[in-house]
Amino acid sequence: MNKIGIPDRHRAAFLVDFKSPLEMGYTDTAIPVGNQVLIRVSGAGICHSDVHVWEGIWYKGGSPGKLPHIQSHEISGTVAAIGDSVPERIKPGDPVLVYPWQWLEDDRYTAAGLTNVPDRPVVPGINIDGGFQEYFLVSHYRYLVDARGIEDLPALAPLSCGGLTTYRAVKKLDGKLQPDDYVAVVGLGGLGSYAVQYLRLLFPQVNIIGADIREDSIEFAEGICRMDGYINPASGDTNKAITEITRGHGFRGVIDLVGKGTLSIYSRALSKEGIYVMVGLMGTGIQESISPFFTVSMEKTITGSYVGTLSEQHEVVDLARKGLINYRKPVSSRIALENASKGLQNLEDGKALGRQVVVF
Ligand SMILES: [Zn+2]
Repeated sequence: MNKIGIPDRHRAAFLVDFKSPLEMGYTDTAIPVGNQVLIRVSGAGICHSDVHVWEGIWYKGGSPGKLPHIQSHEISGTVAAIGDSVPERIKPGDPVLVYPWQWLEDDRYTAAGLTNVPDRPVVPGINIDGGFQEYFLVSHYRYLVDARGIEDLPALAPLSCGGLTTYRAVKKLDGKLQPDDYVAVVGLGGLGSYAVQYLRLLFPQVNIIGADIREDSIEFAEGICRMDGYINPASGDTNKAITEITRGHGFRGVIDLVGKGTLSIYSRALSKEGIYVMVGLMGTGIQESISPFFTVSMEKTITGSYVGTLSEQHEVVDLARKGLINYRKPVSSRIALENASKGLQNLEDGKALGRQVVVF
């Protein structure tokens, strides 16, 4: 124990060699100073980005910054200790979600509230050590989101990436939709099961059409939120299926959570004034094609949506607290820290239905 009553060292899972099982070990527990807050981790989610880091695909781009590395950017937990500059409203024992899209210094984007696209991002689990450990040091209390009133703290963890990214993406449709429009959610795994819920909540009158090549993913999302129809591109002519299901209108909105071979297909199915929101990064490095002629002549919008702002992070936790979204059902498995590698492997192999969370 150290002078604040917390173990000097704690358990962690280390990425030592890319694509190899994480190695269990111990690391020093930091004593928070200044604006820092030490968190006792309750849940650490596994995201597809973690697979890219684990495989070493992003290593040349600086992620992770060093090896060995501690993964996971989706972290929930309770405050264990605070630095001497942290305001009194934050107390040991408080349940929190950690906003992972952090920044090294303020700039014009963060000043405008666009904290998702800072000039100098620094993300736990990606650039610096993350949540696959019993204690996690948050560099500044501003990244903490109050999770009081949340019953299932481990299940909250994926709301900091999966549940946040989909929220911002769905909000991009605000002001663009009419009742009875058709909106597609492409990719119905963990992300899709959040996106469908936000669509139903924010635009209750639109027709939500799910699209996935896996029947079990479609069933998984349907078990969380009702859709108005779905398309399985693996079982027939996708263009024909889209025409039939949208009664020839096409989609007024598309939320693409895959981003691998999907833009070319679904951007063609956009109606006039339709908006296509690209979210998924599964096809990192691949090129897709869109039609300049139809994009212009039909006034289509193609836009990207990247994670979410700190302000949106507060909104998402509030939706969970008020019971307006089901944050528990998208979590399809809870695993022990020593099995975190299995979770990464499951995700790489396409075996994870929803979000997987390492629980402590
Ligand atoms: Zn993520």
